[in-house]
Amino acid sequence: MMKNFFKKYKSNLLILFALVSCSKDKIENIEEVYNFTCSGLSYLTRPNPVDSDNTHDYYEYAWQADPKICINVYDVSILGGREKKVQASMDWVKLNLPNIVPINVFYIDQFNASQDAKTQFDTDFCNLIREGNEVEDCIKESAESWGERSYGGGVYNTYLHNGADLMIYDDAFTSIGSSETEDTGIRYLMHEYFHTFQTSHFFFFEERNQFGINKENFQTGKPLPFIPIWMVEGAADFASLPLMAKQDLDFDHYKYAVSFLDEARRSVSASNSISLKDFESENYRVGDEFYAYGGGFMAYVYLWHMNENNFKKIIKDFYTIFSEKEKLNPGNGWKDAFEESFNISVEDFYKEFDAFMLQDRDSQISIIKSTDAWENASWN
Ligand SMILES: [Zn+2]
Repeated sequence: MMKNFFKKYKSNLLILFALVSCSKDKIENIEEVYNFTCSGLSYLTRPNPVDSDNTHDYYEYAWQADPKICINVYDVSILGGREKKVQASMDWVKLNLPNIVPINVFYIDQFNASQDAKTQFDTDFCNLIREGNEVEDCIKESAESWGERSYGGGVYNTYLHNGADLMIYDDAFTSIGSSETEDTGIRYLMHEYFHTFQTSHFFFFEERNQFGINKENFQTGKPLPFIPIWMVEGAADFASLPLMAKQDLDFDHYKYAVSFLDEARRSVSASNSISLKDFESENYRVGDEFYAYGGGFMAYVYLWHMNENNFKKIIKDFYTIFSEKEKLNPGNGWKDAFEESFNISVEDFYKEFDAFMLQDRDSQISIIKSTDAWENASWN
């Protein structure tokens, strides 16, 4: 399901979004939100930069002081009240791991919603992330994928001024295993939220308090992500667990951690020469599993095991320093940010981690932290 982040940006198809901010206080007004009347700012066209240098244009956006979260819900009557769960969880995350850009959440039942609602969803979405003639094309392209859409989240340089998009479909809550509860679906919401957090930081320069867009990347349409796919997905799966654990949800995060390990182990048993390094630019299945998820997740578990302080670096600090490193060393910013954060070179880490993934299951389970540790670990 949530495996589409990279694919999405690669195909450049479904993405969409844009901006708008709305007051987040009222689930009662969700019908109003349905009409896409989130009040607040929205840029109709890309604003002008306030500064530039030889590589970047820099922007200050009107929403920077208080980036809102706007939840757009479609055909709310068939969602069984789950829109309240989504709202509550987004309210929580806005307080506890606030993003630096507005988030536009789009939520619908992709199987049972009316055609009108689906069309409205695509129309709103495309208007947010595209401009001019491209809006109509976006709506047309999007129309065919209903029923097979993956959840998604992120922001790209072409619509950064409008904030990030986050698409969640009701099957996250309803297509669950018999032993799972609806709350399990919030994990996908948190996973996608973390993608919005990662990608917004690709563009932020803390010292300037400005967003910077690399001019060449903008012109050439360099695709996201700017970091390896195992980092994108592994970190989102990793972060989703403490983000779940700290909310009052019916969810066993320790059990989930072990299931991610087992996914990774299925890949390793299908190919014992597998290396994390092979999942920098592409995510693909080995032994039926996408190793960038399970293997990526375990890579972060391993980093946390190496040093308690790495938890905060995994969730936050790596992203805080990334854009500056990338500006200094284009294409390799992630390596420099990794080495500075974790005190080990990427190559050495790959060697150590690949060897770890060949160990027996018990030794691997032994580095997964306890339920309490996941709940209490702090990124502040
Ligand atoms: Zn993802």
